[in-house]
This record gives sequence, C-alpha cells and structure tokens, in this order.
Amino acid sequence: MALMTGEEYKKSLNDGREVYIDGEQITNVAEHPSFKPIVDAKARMYDLNHKPELKDKMTTTLPDGEEICRAYKLPTSKEDLEAIRTYVETVLDDLGGVVYRMGDETIGEMWSLYDAQDQLNDVDPRFARNIEYHVDRVAREDLFHVSANTDPKGDRSKLFGGKDGGKLLHVVEENDEGIVVRGAKFETAAAYAHQAFVKPTILDWQASEESMAPFACGFICDMGAPGLKHICRSSFGVDKNETDYPISTNFDEIDTLLVFDDVLIPWDNVLFHRSRESAGYIRNTLHRYSAFNYTLRILRRADYLIGTALLNAEQTGLTKIQPVKEKLSELITYREGINAHLTAAVSNAEESPGGLMMPNQSLLYTGRIYAIQNFPAMQHLTRELVGGQLAITPDSAALLNPDTKEYIDKYYTVGEDAGEVWTPEERAKLLYFARDLLNSSYAGHRTTFELFAQSPPFAQHMAAYNSFDMEKQRELVRKGANLSSKEYAK
Ligand SMILES: Cc1cc2nc3c(=O)[nH]c(=O)nc-3n(C[C@H](O)[C@H](O)[C@H](O)COP(=O)(O)OP(=O)(O)OC[C@H]3O[C@@H](n4cnc5c(N)ncnc54)[C@H](O)[C@@H]3O)c2cc1C
Repeated sequence: MALMTGEEYKKSLNDGREVYIDGEQITNVAEHPSFKPIVDAKARMYDLNHKPELKDKMTTTLPDGEEICRAYKLPTSKEDLEAIRTYVETVLDDLGGVVYRMGDETIGEMWSLYDAQDQLNDVDPRFARNIEYHVDRVAREDLFHVSANTDPKGDRSKLFGGKDGGKLLHVVEENDEGIVVRGAKFETAAAYAHQAFVKPTILDWQASEESMAPFACGFICDMGAPGLKHICRSSFGVDKNETDYPISTNFDEIDTLLVFDDVLIPWDNVLFHRSRESAGYIRNTLHRYSAFNYTLRILRRADYLIGTALLNAEQTGLTKIQPVKEKLSELITYREGINAHLTAAVSNAEESPGGLMMPNQSLLYTGRIYAIQNFPAMQHLTRELVGGQLAITPDSAALLNPDTKEYIDKYYTVGEDAGEVWTPEERAKLLYFARDLLNSSYAGHRTTFELFAQSPPFAQHMAAYNSFDMEKQRELVRKGANLSSKEYAK
C-alpha cells in the first residue's frame, strides 16, 4: 500500500455506507454539499503528503522502507513528538483554519492500547496481536481513523451502580466469525472516515460487576459495515455565503450519531472483549498521546483570537491606548501558557509502559485543562476588543446593493487619517471572520466541542489528578509540620 491521494480518499468513501443528514439518506458523501468542504479539507491533507517540498514534514518511513504519514508513526523519541507538532502545524498552516478530528488526533488512542499489550495478552493473546496489526495497518494503508467513546446514555443514575449498562453499546452474540454489537455512539467525522476505534464509555469500570462484561468491549469498526447507520447533525455552513461565514462554510466537522444495529465485528478487529479491566485501562489512559494533538489545535485557535483582536484594534487605532495593549497582553499570556505546557510536555517527555515516548503526562493533562478553561475568557476578551460591530454589521449583500453601498462605504471605511485606509470590503471581511470565530452558530458549537470532545471536564481533572505524583508535596509538609509517619498515617 502507499500514501493515499485526495482523490483516492474521496473515492474510498463510496463503500455503500448508510448516511443520513437533514432527514434524508445520501449516497455520495464526498460530493454532498454538507460534507464536501470538510471532505475536501481531508483530501487536501492527503495531497500534502505528496508535495515534494513538504515530504520531510509530512511523511516518514517504517523500518522496511514503506513511506507513511508522519502522524501515524509510533513515537519512540522526543524528536518523534516534535515531528508530530510540526506535522499538525504544517497542516493547519496550509488549510488556513482549524480542524480537529482528522485522523492524527485519534490515532493516539490506539497507541494507548498498544502500551497495554502485556495486559491484553493475559486476557487473550489474539487481542494483543490485533492491536499491533491495526496500528501498523492504519499507517501502511493511510486510513482515516476516528474514535467512538460516548454512548447516548439515557438515565445516567442507573449506570452508577455498576450492574446494569442499559442502552450502552454491548455484545449481543459471539460466533465463529466474530462478535455482534448493538448500541450507539457519538462520533465526529464518522461519515467521512474509514474506521473507528470503538470503546466503552466513562464509567467506574473497576467497581463494575460481572453483569457489565458484555459492555466491556473494544474493537475496530469499518465505517461502511452492514448494519451501521450514520445519523448526522445538520451542517452549519451549507446554506451560508462564504464571504459572510468564512469558517463555517469551510471547516464544519460534521458529528454523527452512529447506530450499531447488530453489526458483526470480525475477530481480527476485536481488541478486547468481556474485559472490564481493559475497559478501565483504556478509559484511564485514552488521551495519553492524543491530548497533545488536541491541545495544539486550541493553541492555533488562540492564535486566531489574538490576530483577530489585534487587527481590529489596529484598524480602529485602538492599539495606541495602554489599556487595549494590556488586554492584548492578557490574550498573549493565555496563549503562551498553552504553548508552555505543550513545549514542556515534549522536553520532559516520558517513556510509556509499552516502551514508547509519551508527552509528559502531568504537563499535558494540566495544559489541556488550562487551555479549555481559559478559552472562553480569551474569546470574551477578543469580543470586547473587536467591539459591538462584530454582532451588528450588515452582511455582504449590503455592500453589493447600490442603494445601500454608499452608506456602507461611508461608515465602514477606516484609517483615512492614519494614512492606512481599510476599505469597507476589507473591514467587513475581518468582522465576518470575527463573527464566525466568536458569535455564529458554528462558533458556539466549536466551544462546546472543545469542552467535551476529549471527555467532559470532570474526566479531564481526574486525568490530571492521577498523573501528578503528589509524594513530594506530602513529604514537604510532613517535614515542615514535623509530622511523624505514624501521625501522618492517622
Ligand atoms: C461537538 C461534540 C463532538 C463530540 N465528538 C465526539 C467524538 O468524536 N467521539 C466521541 O466518542 N464522543 C464525542 N462527543 C461526546 C463527548 O465525549 C461527550 O459529550 C462527553 O463525554 C460527555 O458525555 P455526555 O454528553 O453523555 O454527558 P454526561 O455524561 O451526561 O455528563 C454531563 C455532565 O454531568 C456531570 N457528570 C456526569 N457524570 C459525572 C461524574 N461521574 N462525575 C462528575 N460529574 C459528572 C458533568 O458536569 C458532565 O459534564 C462529542 C461531543 C460534542 C459536544
């Protein structure tokens, strides 16, 4: 196999998958107006791997000489982690926008399982072989691989007992060919991806009872598998004008309710089965690698916020005022806080239990929390600096209509006195960009995505809590307060 081209990727989506959007079943995902922009973005990513001038950033080779996408190489050194950062930044530079769930972010969740091969071997040696095979296969076949974690859970209180999984995805049959699964998952990008790593949702698996065993399964599912139904949410960009909504029309990543209506998963695709221990393990380690790629995207979004605030303030002459500079400095401080966590997570990277190189876990998980917690404050500061025109500027049609154009020209031309004139078209374009970054339906959706898509805040705090070794702090206070070990034990 070789690196895929954009065209090959688009054709590969025509595999008979059952996709619904706006209440209708569709046949050609790549050409459907709701999906076309984001499929084109992913196709462009595939084509970037073939550009000679980008080869060293976008690709690498396996030991046997096979050329693969840089993002799919198992990281075994700090250089590999730095190369992942370069890969993500190069892609985002080229696309001119921020997309999250494009394969590189989700493959890391397989690497977490790769780290647990010894444990999987104890459960069933077949499963350890399968994980190794699939990590290799994604790289060699250049597959767009996504991640399905969250079920529509119904009454959450029923799940706390650890006895009854209710409607959660579970195995209904086991036969010579594989397992048959029933249930549903939420999954961004499923309708235009090749396969997903499906796994149990967040639960206290350690405290669960044997009755939960059918729910404790992890597997690779082909996105065109018979019985799989993609019920997608409507696009934010499809009925919009690109000038007025430059981000929604190009970068909307469509989310799917993925229904498994008795889907057969061949044994070769099963990664664990009836293993509550494996379910607990993967929930505790899931974002060990992928949080890095995810937080890199938030860093890029922070850059867009700073650029938007800065250009607006410069256009209107506000950067001459000290308090405005201070607000910009606050934005820079948030941005550099995220950058510092990511940079330090690589320079203090640690060896994983499976012998890979993972970003420093404590710095990565606290960096993810820092980024997500501060993002709404960054957005609000940007809103404040852009001003109310962000919300009340007439759309581009007003610039074209001769009856209204002269007024728009008059009131939206800025910078004449400073000798740096911004035409009404340019001023409006910046305001439309700011609106789509901060205020549109797409912008609101994006904020919710950032809050939840790599698990809800409480789970992110648990990851930070569990990855920070608190013994040093304990010891400091033991000594400072002159506590004996015995006293401390009490
Ligand atoms: C835009 C978007 C895209 C998404 N994409 C994906 C995807 O690609 N793949 C995927 O698998 N999932 C995806 N998700 C789903 C996401 O992972 C879940 O929304 C998230 O895990 C929270 O689950 P929930 O929505 O069922 O909320 P619930 O589990 O019902 O939780 C809601 C809230 O209840 C509280 N709560 C619940 N349980 C606890 C607890 N034990 N301790 C403390 N507080 C608690 C918290 O405040 C929590 O935020 C996406 C979600 C969004 C919004």
